[in-house]
Amino acid sequence: MRRLVILGSTGSIGEQALELVAAADDLELVAISAERRWERLIAQAQQHGVRRVAIADEQCAELARAAWDGEVLSGPEALATLIVAAEPDLVLNAIVGSAGLAATVITLSEGIDLALANKESLVVGGELVIELAAATGARLLPVDSEHSALYQLIASENGQPPGTIERLTLTASGGPFRGRRREDLEAVTVEEALDHPTWQMGGKISIDSATLMNKGLELIEAHQLFGVAYNDLEVVVHPQSIVHAMISLADGSSLAHLGYPDMKVPIAYALHWPQRTKLELAPLDLEQLGSLNFEAVDNEAFPCLSLALAAGREGGTAPCVLNAANEVAVAAFLDRRCAFLQIAEVIEATLDDAEIMQSYSFETLIDADRAARASAAEHLVTLA
Ligand code: NDP
Ligand code: MG
Repeated sequence: MRRLVILGSTGSIGEQALELVAAADDLELVAISAERRWERLIAQAQQHGVRRVAIADEQCAELARAAWDGEVLSGPEALATLIVAAEPDLVLNAIVGSAGLAATVITLSEGIDLALANKESLVVGGELVIELAAATGARLLPVDSEHSALYQLIASENGQPPGTIERLTLTASGGPFRGRRREDLEAVTVEEALDHPTWQMGGKISIDSATLMNKGLELIEAHQLFGVAYNDLEVVVHPQSIVHAMISLADGSSLAHLGYPDMKVPIAYALHWPQRTKLELAPLDLEQLGSLNFEAVDNEAFPCLSLALAAGREGGTAPCVLNAANEVAVAAFLDRRCAFLQIAEVIEATLDDAEIMQSYSFETLIDADRAARASAAEHLVTLA
C-alpha cells in the first residue's frame, strides 16, 4: 500500500486524483487539504475514510470543525503538521499558484516523494526545489501532461551517452483564441477565455492557457525539471492536444508521447510510478483522428509566452516576479477588473520595475513574490 496525501483535493486535478484513488487497490489516502471549500473537503474525507484534513482559511476551518469530528488543521503550520503526521509515501501537490511552493518544500525536506501538479513551485523556486530533492533523495514526479510525457521519453533514453537528447518540444493547444489577431482579443470575455477547446481545468490555468502564459510557465518548469537550456526547448501549437511532447535525438530520430487529452493519464502515472496502471480509456484511434496539425505560436497576439521565456532566461527572482504578477492579473481578469490584453501589460510593467536578484533563498522568494504582487496591483490601477 502506498500512503498518499492529496493537497488541493477539491480542485480539478485533486478531484480526478480522488477518482483514481477510489479505483486503485494499492493507494491508501491518508490526508487531504483545501483552501476554502470545506464542505466539499469534508464530503471527500467521509467518502474516502480520511480522518485528517487541512484548510488554509481559518474561518472555513472553524466551520469544518463544527460540522465534522475528524482532525481539522489550519494556520501557518497546518500543511507541515498534516504531512508529517500522515507519514505518507507520496504527496500530490495540486494546489494552484505560488501558495503551493511551501507544500513542495515541506514534502521534499521530509524526503517524501512528490507528485507535482503545482507547476508554479518550479517556476518560482526551481533551482532550490531541485537542489532540495537531490539533497534529500525525494523523487519529483511531474503531473503536468507535457512534463509527464517528457519524463517518460527521457527515461526511455537512459544509459545513452550525454548529448543524445538534443531538443525537447512541448505542444500547446493554442487555447480558445488560437488564430485570432491581437486586435481581436481586446474585448474577449471571461466566459470565452474559460472555454478551453481540449482540456477541462481550474479557472487560473484555463486563463493561463488562453494567454499562452501556461506554456511559458511550462518552459520554465521543463528547464528546471530536466536541466535543459532554453535554446534546446521549443513550443509548437498543436490544436488537437494528441501529441503531448517530443524529444529529438542525435541520430535524427524523434520520439513523441501521444494520447487523448485526459489528465487522469499523467496523474495515474505519477501516483503509481514506476508501475503503469490500467485505465478504462478508449485506445487512440488514428484513422478516426485523420490528421494532426502543427503551427507556430503567434507571439504578437500572445506576448505572455515571450515574457515568460525572457524571465526564465534572466533567472534569479525574475520567474517569481513574472508568476506573481500573472496571478494578480489573472485574478483581476476573472473578477472583471481588467481586460484580457492587460494581463500581459501588467506582467511586463511589473517585471520592468522589479529589482531582480540572482542569488536568493526561499525567504527572499517570499519577499519577491509579495513585492511583485503589490507592484502588479498598482499597475492594474494605472493601466485601467
Ligand atoms: P483548481 O483551481 O481547480 O484547484 C486548486 C486547489 O488548490 C483547490 O483544492 C483549492 O482549494 C486549493 N487552493 C487554492 N489556493 C490555496 C491556498 N492558498 N492554500 C491551499 N490550498 C489552496 O486548480 P487545478 O486543479 O486546475 O490546478 C492545480 C495545479 O495543477 C495548478 O498549479 C495548475 O497549473 C496545475 N495543472 C492543472 C491542470 C488541470 O488540468 N487542471 C493540468 C496541468 C497542471 P479550494 O477548493 O478550497 O479553493
Ligand atoms: Mg500542461
